[in-house]
Amino acid sequence: MPIFVFLFFLIIQTKLLLAQQDKIDLFKSRMDAILVKDKSVYKQIAFTDTALILFTDTTRKFPEKIIRWKDMDAYRIQMQHLSIQESFNLYQKEVLFNPSFNSNILAEPYYERNKEKLKGYKIALDAGHTACNFEDAKTEAKFIEMDSVLINGNYQSTQLYEAELTYITSLLLKDKLEKEGANVLLTRENICGGADGISFNTWLEKNMQKDLDSLYNSGEITLKEKNEILNKKNLRANFKIYNHIDIRKRAEKINAYQPHITIIIHYNVDADNIPWNKPSNKNLNMVFIPGAFAKGELNKKEERFHFLRLLVCDDIDQSYQLAACAAKSFTEELKIPLAKQNDCKYLDEYCSAIKDGIFIRNLSLLRLVKGAVIYGETLYQDNIDELILLSQKTKSYNGINYSPRIEDVANAYYKSIVEYFENNQP
Ligand SMILES: [Zn+2]
Repeated sequence: MPIFVFLFFLIIQTKLLLAQQDKIDLFKSRMDAILVKDKSVYKQIAFTDTALILFTDTTRKFPEKIIRWKDMDAYRIQMQHLSIQESFNLYQKEVLFNPSFNSNILAEPYYERNKEKLKGYKIALDAGHTACNFEDAKTEAKFIEMDSVLINGNYQSTQLYEAELTYITSLLLKDKLEKEGANVLLTRENICGGADGISFNTWLEKNMQKDLDSLYNSGEITLKEKNEILNKKNLRANFKIYNHIDIRKRAEKINAYQPHITIIIHYNVDADNIPWNKPSNKNLNMVFIPGAFAKGELNKKEERFHFLRLLVCDDIDQSYQLAACAAKSFTEELKIPLAKQNDCKYLDEYCSAIKDGIFIRNLSLLRLVKGAVIYGETLYQDNIDELILLSQKTKSYNGINYSPRIEDVANAYYKSIVEYFENNQP
């Protein structure tokens, strides 16, 4: 663990949150340890004697938000308790934060948790990807297809797709959590499609034109980009837009539910084994938390708002606690080691490592979701052993056949959630 990461968690543990200098120290160490991937990000923040200032760009000429230290606790409490939309409105309202803004802070009801370990907790589960079937998974580019894999003494062809694995995992995990009294939200309620249940093919036919128009009207894409996507009939480019819109819908659905924690579920592959038509010997687990803003990732007002939210609230500390439980549980339950930063190129390029298996990455959904959130990437689907295990679909749930190996993954998430709430009661 790098020394500044160690110091950061030391500060968190000693809870020196009261005096102004302590706040400055906490926020600076939070930036060093978690939030900043590229040094240019520092140019948009200033800590003065009287206030924290967030600038629109690196010239530091135009302050977008000024929060006086004496108002910081009021601002933090509002950010913590208002909905994302309400706090974004507050962020945009005026440059200098005015603490007179009225917030209604919800009190946490008390639950007797002797009988049901998770009574009263709200948990959002986000099953990654959207493919309805193996053919769709090809457009999504999240599939494994191999000829001649030796399974039980016979050579067999093997097809897997991630959207199905994550969806079944979320169903199994939901059942386990509900048995312990939790309330559970699934962002994907059906195997087909994303947060609104619309498959990519249906969207192409019915919604693409309308969605491109609204992206153009809100300034997110140019007229040229819009026309290129419409004219080219390029499925990959179309899919990218569909996915972009779906990620935002997932975040909206999760934030409207106001969960205590959010678990984003994915299955990994060996990135060096592209195009995944032969087995790999590698197999690792990893879990991601928000942060690691890279160069240019504070260009938009909404990005700056989320940066400030993560800087002044305690969400990333909670996300780290949840990630630590998940990393431990993945190793114990799945019997697979945790990834190290030099195991994959993308971990080095886009992420900062906290410790083995736990990485910080500025993924859209991690950034957009309020509260404690982790993004799990369990096991490599193309690993020779996993491939065989995942292909043996001896169980069935609502008519979908699945491998018992998925139960191990659901169980690993389940144990980490129980452990997290044992140590972090809101
Ligand atoms: Zn994935």
